[in-house]
Amino acid sequence: MKIVNLSSGSEGNLTYIETSEAKILVDAGLSCKEIELRLSLLGVSGEEIDAIIVSHEHSDHTKGIDVFCSKHNTKIYAHIDEWPALNKKLFKVNPLQKYSFTAAPFNIKDITVTAFKVPHDSVCCVGFTIENNYKKISICTDLGTISDNILQNIYGSQLVFLEANHDVQMLKNNIRYCASLKQRILSSRGHLSNLDSAKAIQQLVKNGTKRVVLSHLSKENNNATLAYETVKTILTNNGIVVGEDVEIDVASTMPSKIYKLS
Ligand SMILES: [Zn+2]
Ligand SMILES: [Zn+2]
Repeated sequence: MKIVNLSSGSEGNLTYIETSEAKILVDAGLSCKEIELRLSLLGVSGEEIDAIIVSHEHSDHTKGIDVFCSKHNTKIYAHIDEWPALNKKLFKVNPLQKYSFTAAPFNIKDITVTAFKVPHDSVCCVGFTIENNYKKISICTDLGTISDNILQNIYGSQLVFLEANHDVQMLKNNIRYCASLKQRILSSRGHLSNLDSAKAIQQLVKNGTKRVVLSHLSKENNNATLAYETVKTILTNNGIVVGEDVEIDVASTMPSKIYKLS
């Protein structure tokens, strides 16, 4: 399995996953043109994408979906509870391209996808585990809190894209954000802080995760160094050696390195 995060954060989220049989995207939060451009860097054309699986309807996850999927006749998979909201973003896509999933695992060629609900201020929001050839990854961003049930779903993933949205103090001190927006982000249906992310990573490392990519960083209330150092400090204080027990990367608005699991 080959995985590349093509963009992460409030300006757009998009991850490319390739196996011997399938090429899929998780979310499509950039314009169609930009998605095509970033795929072309990998030597992949839009027509080659078998499906896009959608976490939730927010535009940083769905911006390019209507144009891309109507142009390339791409299948769209979304949670059955999410379709009423997602349909409001789709004007051109043929209904035959739309597929629903629930909590049950489903297959796209040789990829098995399992979705699990996460608490976020959208109609419905899910994280994903993606399995192929006995390898498992998880993508889990846009969640206000992380429960044991969510962790149970992710356990056993070699690679995890996990939200580390904000530094709580930076957010609280941000004079450009009004009180209600701060409250929204800090709420149990908002976004995960660096601290929350670090606590979750401790559990993930104990359950087999070898690499975590800190994802969906806020441009206003976080930065790559702060997220990395906060997580590293907490892991170190709890006896986990970054670089030995687990690798920590930070996703950005630009394409990541290519992760290969085989
Ligand atoms: Zn988002
Ligand atoms: Zn969101």
